[in-house]
Amino acid sequence: MSLIVQKFGGTSVADVEKIRAAARKAIRAQRQGHQVVMVVSAMGKNTDVLLDLAGQIGENPPAREMDMLLSTGEQVSVALVAMAIHELGAKAISLTGGQIGMKTDNSFSKARIQSISTERIQRLLSEGNIVVAAGFQGIDDDLNITTLGRGGSDTTAVALAAVLGADACEIYTDVDGVYTTDPRKLPEARRVEVISYDEMLELASLGAGVMHSRSIEFAKKFGVPIHVRSSFSDTEGTMIVAEPESMTQPVSGAAMTADEARVTVLGVPDVPGKSLQIFSAIAARKIAVDMVVQNVGQDGSADISFTVPRGELNATLAALDSVMKSVGAKGITHDDEVSKVSVVGMNMARQANVASRMFRALADANVNIQMITTSEIKISALVSKRQSADALRAVHEAFDLHIRPADAKNWKQIKADRSEADFETLVNRLRADALEALTLTGISLTNDQARVTLHGVPDRPGIAADMFEMIGQASIFVDMIVQGYDGEDGSTSVSLTVEKKDLAKTIEVAKTIQAKHGMRDLQSADHIAKITVSGIGLRSHTHVATLLFDRLAADNINVEMINTSELQVNAVIDATNAAKATDSLKKAFAESLM
Ligand code: ADP
Ligand code: ASP
Ligand code: MG
Repeated sequence: MSLIVQKFGGTSVADVEKIRAAARKAIRAQRQGHQVVMVVSAMGKNTDVLLDLAGQIGENPPAREMDMLLSTGEQVSVALVAMAIHELGAKAISLTGGQIGMKTDNSFSKARIQSISTERIQRLLSEGNIVVAAGFQGIDDDLNITTLGRGGSDTTAVALAAVLGADACEIYTDVDGVYTTDPRKLPEARRVEVISYDEMLELASLGAGVMHSRSIEFAKKFGVPIHVRSSFSDTEGTMIVAEPESMTQPVSGAAMTADEARVTVLGVPDVPGKSLQIFSAIAARKIAVDMVVQNVGQDGSADISFTVPRGELNATLAALDSVMKSVGAKGITHDDEVSKVSVVGMNMARQANVASRMFRALADANVNIQMITTSEIKISALVSKRQSADALRAVHEAFDLHIRPADAKNWKQIKADRSEADFETLVNRLRADALEALTLTGISLTNDQARVTLHGVPDRPGIAADMFEMIGQASIFVDMIVQGYDGEDGSTSVSLTVEKKDLAKTIEVAKTIQAKHGMRDLQSADHIAKITVSGIGLRSHTHVATLLFDRLAADNINVEMINTSELQVNAVIDATNAAKATDSLKKAFAESLM
């Protein structure tokens, strides 16, 4: 008998009528011959109401009590949904996180799932019940109630689908699928019929709130196909599967996080180990850092810039405060009026000029880019919050995201693909006691790389577009790009990596760019290597970058450039040390390597 997990978000159970509608959907699936597990969120904005209440009691509520409080929202809805099912003549049992055996670690408000016991659910299902499970919550070893983080019911649903070996996981929500960007922010956004796990994971992590990013980690690891669809209609929505929608279009979606903060640690002594101190202090608080840019200064000190969610700025500054002395940095600056705009696409890595196209679109919209980071399937630009809506629109249009690609898969093809795909490989090897443990798929080394850095890049719209168009015209394929703050004069520096064979050509072009825009300095390195740690959910596992810095520092190896995504962490180092570094990392990550 087939098994379906159906998840209903807050808006989908916001009132009694909607609860009845959700109950009817589950009953219908059961009558069609499926076993049905429902995962339900708190009604409407109930979680926000509870948060607000806690805020009225005091500013710093104990984390344990916060989770105790927030979990009640879901408990209300599961009971009501089960009652509605009874009322409509079918059998249902509601269960809390604890009752479904959802074991987590004890990091309140950000708990990770360790194991789920399925016997009780299986028994109840075989007795003919619809099982209505509370989303977002679990229990730790001491039976404390924990929560998985805002939006975490998606993760409960996909995790249950994974461990129960469900045939489908349906996410019922207030949009009829995944769009090329948030349709509330951009009405011209287009609904896609299919999107790949990798793209959805990256988009979710970069601001596409339609799915909790950790749910996609589960889906990818366990090969769970996810169907995102409207709870208010019966139309088919979007399938999240292994394959992308198109094999040609460079970008499949754009995302924005409106509320970001940029932090720069100034004058960090340029010796191995300093980044480690900075980032381990932040990672210890489980704050996910993004857009890390390290500018190797000319005076033996470096400026390290990165972004964090705006809501985590104070905690980040507090963490930094505790290590500033031992780091020996000169000071900290920050800006909390910034937004991050990103484009994501599986085919990006194989196409030239994707970055310059994005930068040109921003320049044409008169948007200044403050920082840039790229990885194999995404490009992020930090812009002022004031210009963020314009930036998103410009980028969406530049990549024709509103137009269906000619080779886009249709609904029938997705289903066919799904049955052919090989989902099994990773599944069986996962340890049963740490479902959300870090999963690494490899550590590899790319030699024959070179780096070029331009210092004193003027901080105004159009410069990045101009630079990367000129590089593109010279047929140079750029791998990594990072741009960030460079000293106190407001200028930035841009570093890029290319293949070694293209270095001479790149320096020529860089010299022209330098002269044209009056940039201060040009540096290059012809003996560098890139170490790549690949896996699933690398950014949300905040210790990955820390451990990498730690191992490299222990070997006295300086990290020249770094980029992070959910799928990879790349570090550029001097090639002399490359073999040693790879060995150290393989040892350090041995536990997590599949
Ligand atoms: P639920 O309560 O059902 O979990 P959420 O509010 O968490 O619903 O997620 C649905 C919302 O996600 C939509 O209303 C939409 O505004 C937003 N969203 C953000 N990015 C996207 C996207 N790329 N595609 C669709 N919806 C998106
Ligand atoms: N109720 C929780 C929240 O509002 C979990 C969820 O809806 O996914 O974040
Ligand atoms: Mg949600």
